Amino acid sequence: MSSNIASNTASAHLTIDLNALADNYRQFQAMTDDTCEISGVIKANAYGLGAKQVFNKLKSLGCPQIFVATLDEALSLRVHDKKTPIAVLGGLFTGAEKEYLTNNITPVLNTPHEIKAWSTMAKNENTKLPTYIHFDTGMNRLGLSADEARALINDQSVLNSLGLQLIMSHFACADDKDHPFTQEQADKFAAIATHFPNAKKSLSNSPGLFTDPSYHYDLARPGYALYGGNPTPHLKNPMKPVVHLKVRVLQVRNVKKGETVGYAASHTFKKDTRTATVALGYADGFLRSNSGSKSGEAKLYYNDTACNVLGRVSMDLVSIDIDHLPNLKQGDWIEVLGHNQSVDALAHSAGTIGYEILTSLGNRYKRYYIGAE
Ligand SMILES: *Cc1c(COP(=O)(O)O)cnc(C)c1O
Repeated sequence: MSSNIASNTASAHLTIDLNALADNYRQFQAMTDDTCEISGVIKANAYGLGAKQVFNKLKSLGCPQIFVATLDEALSLRVHDKKTPIAVLGGLFTGAEKEYLTNNITPVLNTPHEIKAWSTMAKNENTKLPTYIHFDTGMNRLGLSADEARALINDQSVLNSLGLQLIMSHFACADDKDHPFTQEQADKFAAIATHFPNAKKSLSNSPGLFTDPSYHYDLARPGYALYGGNPTPHLKNPMKPVVHLKVRVLQVRNVKKGETVGYAASHTFKKDTRTATVALGYADGFLRSNSGSKSGEAKLYYNDTACNVLGRVSMDLVSIDIDHLPNLKQGDWIEVLGHNQSVDALAHSAGTIGYEILTSLGNRYKRYYIGAE
């Protein structure tokens, strides 16, 4: 796809298909009841794909709620849009409380201290502030502990000055369909939810959405699947791919038997071999764990033909075996992510998850957005 776009200067083309992202969003709408709204999680620059472009696309689809991780991420979106609800999963940052208020940003309150501070501000401003509260149900990262939840349930007076709109929790193991922890968390959340009948409820991330309809509640929070990642690792990916990446061949070489390639001279050629050096390195999210000496698993593709990675992946370059591709020449394009290799497949060969691949993509790609608003 991206190879059709002529650019003489770029060493790499990263194409982000926002129409595919829109189709993924609509798929979430189609698979949930009308009572379940679909938010967009666009933390970490929309998983590396461009928060502003994804934000504008989601807005055009009527997305009712955006989640980011940090206040700064929220503030940088507020520059483009004053109204769309934006919530900060990281909570209410001490010392920056007023920033939320003046910029119409909602913290997801994670501690009794944050609830108190938000409530005090509501009183001082004489207004009912929109209030979202995160209850921890087993992840032990963010949110009220079981004891803190009990205390709040027993004495909800601190909420009197607040407009409680949403309660949420987050799954630890929803990507493992057989893990009993997910249902345990769902049961804990359901028990808490009964005490807040007037608040909307939110529980599901991408895999949670696909695990059980009872997890959908009023607001789903997909991130990864929106960007085309597989939310059902045990099954074929139901999402449309959003990310396509091609990189340029910088040099073609004929290497002699017994010679080596790259740092640490980690790969020794067993026979005379044609190789290509391509404009891709760990600075571009092609992780060093893809080095050929270690696993030999990582592949790049010329048209539809697989090429093995040879030796170490360096910052800007990687070498591949093209002995079986006599026509490949300098300036040709090599697929990293596309129909031959999904984000999940590349992640698997690098020994990580697709989330890390996406958020590592780096800043020096020439980026093309299909279907931008
Ligand atoms: C990141 C995040 C999500 C989105 O998770 P995905 O697995 O990417 O769908 C949802 N909720 C919370 C609290 C998160 O931190």
